Amino acid sequence: MNRKYRKTIIAGNWKMNKLPSELKTFSEALKALVPRAKWCEVAVCVPAVMIPGAVRAFKDGKVCVGAQDISAAEFGAFTGECSGAQLADAGAKYVIVGHSERRQNHGETNELINAKVKTALANKLIPIVCVGESLEQREMGVTLEVVTLQIKTILSDITAEQVKKLIIAYEPIWAIGTGKTATAEQAGAVCTAIRALIRGMYGARIARSVTIQYGGSMNGKNAAELLAQPDIDGGLVGGASLDPAEFAKIIMAAQELEE
Ligand code: PEP
Repeated sequence: MNRKYRKTIIAGNWKMNKLPSELKTFSEALKALVPRAKWCEVAVCVPAVMIPGAVRAFKDGKVCVGAQDISAAEFGAFTGECSGAQLADAGAKYVIVGHSERRQNHGETNELINAKVKTALANKLIPIVCVGESLEQREMGVTLEVVTLQIKTILSDITAEQVKKLIIAYEPIWAIGTGKTATAEQAGAVCTAIRALIRGMYGARIARSVTIQYGGSMNGKNAAELLAQPDIDGGLVGGASLDPAEFAKIIMAAQELEE
């Protein structure tokens, strides 16, 4: 992390878990544990139907709300999808784009993710752009090639000013929901390579300012070590964000490192 140059952001990804009626209890429990995050921004990315309730429930604790997906289209005949304007109007600040579960279960390509990033930015949402390799790709030694291709395609036609506004989440697919975390060195090395790539594409000033998160079985025990890596500026947290106590431990780990 490097608070001098960029924001630290801990974002929960609730996926398709929890009910709207559970928001208040969760937010109160989290607030009791972390009254106000000082140095880092905290967000929870909830199912679209829960966004307005989450905005109300988390307001006091200064926790921001995000969505988990966005339509690439502005409006119209897209049954089941949510537009950027709708998500923003409902109160979302962030939107996860290109999560590996969307790539795997819905065939999302880097080209479609590029279109979604543009729609998110056009609607003043902050995209959390997910990239990462499969276990097979890591074992073949092509992690950096895969991540480079993902980022180059996803950021095509995205200007330097726009890149400054987005977040990149490095999420090795083999570490998501599996309990297998990348070691701090493995995760840190890829995040450093991502920053070097951004430097090559947009220059040093922009690269220094981009928040790069790690995601993949982050929890209260391993968060401090991961977040101590110089190019890991936060976490995208699935399973551990469903439990206020565990999520709070990750937030506290980020805060302690920043102090
Ligand atoms: C995720 O879904 O983005 C994620 C990182 O999940 P988990 O923390 O459960 O591995």
